[in-house]
Amino acid sequence: MIRISGVSRKFGEREVVSGIDLAIRRGEIFSIIGPSGSGKTTLLRLIDLLDRPTRGSIMFEDSSTEGPEHERRAIRRRMAMVFQKPGVLNATVEQNVAFGLEFRGMQKDRVHERVTSALEMVGLSGLSQRRALTLSGGEMQRVAIARAIVTGPEVLLLDEPTANLDPLSTGIIENLIVRVNRERKTTVILATHDMGQGQRLASRIGVMMDGHLVQTGEIYDIFYHPVNRPIATFVGIDPVSDGIVESNENNLAIIAVHGVSVQAVTALGKGQRVALCIRPEEVTLSLPDACPPASSARNCLAGTITRLLPYGPFTRVHVDCGIPVTALVTRRSSEELGLAMGMRVNATIKATAIHVIPDPEDKDNPPHTTTG
Ligand code: ADP
Ligand code: MG
Repeated sequence: MIRISGVSRKFGEREVVSGIDLAIRRGEIFSIIGPSGSGKTTLLRLIDLLDRPTRGSIMFEDSSTEGPEHERRAIRRRMAMVFQKPGVLNATVEQNVAFGLEFRGMQKDRVHERVTSALEMVGLSGLSQRRALTLSGGEMQRVAIARAIVTGPEVLLLDEPTANLDPLSTGIIENLIVRVNRERKTTVILATHDMGQGQRLASRIGVMMDGHLVQTGEIYDIFYHPVNRPIATFVGIDPVSDGIVESNENNLAIIAVHGVSVQAVTALGKGQRVALCIRPEEVTLSLPDACPPASSARNCLAGTITRLLPYGPFTRVHVDCGIPVTALVTRRSSEELGLAMGMRVNATIKATAIHVIPDPEDKDNPPHTTTG
């Protein structure tokens, strides 16, 4: 529904958003994730037509957004943005939410109807007469979202919607975003530096780094198949580097890394320098004498436990297998196996669960990036 083609934005000499190609689909939750300063807010402001690109174009449905201001305003009204630090007016909650509609000259009874429904949606019906300035941060954010959805936008843009909130309020806001998307069929575009939030909410994710959209895809693609090291690190995998492909037969490669041989599925050929990404939830631990039967597409690496960290209902277990391997196991299986520091264990990882990225230092085989 929104098509962004070759969009760049320069401030002075500095291009803070560069050559973005991206299509947002009607009805989806699309999350733009990336570290602070990567250009997320600048891109959101361009999409919301608050700013104009220095290069490239943005189409909203079949309309160009490069027309005169009155045309841009008409398109803008089909969207609503919640800023990172939304202010509230020194008025009641209800008046805060009604303000935009009254400004547009809507009749009083229709305003009331819409405001009531928006406040119900965000769960603030009981607080409609409270002064907005007396609310908690999470409640103020819900007022800001009510103010945005009350106009019935087709697209809701949210900039770091939970940046300064406690976990409880964050959960409420995240549920609310999903409900607005499902119940009102609102397309949601969300910018966040919290990759967990991107993962919890979005149907698709775009990763921004240094003004570039470096990877776009389904959550699975981004979290299991990051195209380069910075993205891998950003999505919570510490890639093991200095690997080299020793052989490759029908995409089943043997990779030597720090003296350990690992089987992985990749198209990269012999001699290619690589880094390996292994998600902790893909690693299974077993006792040394219980190594599963050798299989052609499974790695069973013997190692020693170097660290045990509680992680919610799980334990993160660091194992030195010659290469560092982290496993995420349930507390229960950790207890059943009697896992402890210094203990010998086997780490089993399927060849398909090891994601291989080309080493960017390898000039002959530059890494690719995808968009779409
Ligand atoms: P993010 O939202 O990912 O943290 P921003 O889009 O806010 O990133 O900013 C990207 C870069 O652009 C930052 O280095 C920021 O300082 C710069 N920038 C943003 N807006 C302006 C502006 N109006 N003038 C000059 N530089 C800007
Ligand atoms: Mg920002």
